[in-house]
Amino acid sequence: MHRIPMHESKCKAYHGHRYVAEIHCVADELDEAGRVVDFGVVKERVGGWIDRNWDHTAILMRGDPDPACRAIAEANHGAGKPVYWLDQPPTAENLVAELAGVSNRLLASSGVEVVRIRLWETPNCSSEWVSDAWVAATR
Ligand SMILES: [Zn+2]
Repeated sequence: MHRIPMHESKCKAYHGHRYVAEIHCVADELDEAGRVVDFGVVKERVGGWIDRNWDHTAILMRGDPDPACRAIAEANHGAGKPVYWLDQPPTAENLVAELAGVSNRLLASSGVEVVRIRLWETPNCSSEWVSDAWVAATR
C-alpha cells in the first residue's frame, strides 16, 4: 500500500494497487542460446526483489507527517515485511524510477541493460521510465 501525502483528494488515504511492471532489457548481442537474457533471471532477480521489498508491505515517503506511518512501520516490521521508504512521494512516476535503478543494479552482472520500464498502477494508469541512452539511441 501507499499514500501520496500531498495529494488533493482520495490518494492521500492509505490504499493498495495490483502493480504490473514491464521491464525492457537490451544486450550488445544475443547469448549462445539466442536470448537477450533468460526470462527466469529477470524474474528471479527483479521479481524476487519486488517480492522482498514491495509486496505485502507499505511504500511510504520518508518524512511523511502522518503519525500512522510510524505505527504501520512497526506493525510491518513485526510481521517481517518492513516498510519501504522512498525519499519522494510513492507515485507511479517515482516508483518506476526507483525500480529502474534497482533493476539495472540487479541485472548488471547478467550483461543486460534495462532501458525502459512501464509500471502499471491500475489497468488504465501507468508510468514509464526510459533511459537517456535509449532515448538517444532510438532517435
Ligand atoms: Zn495509489
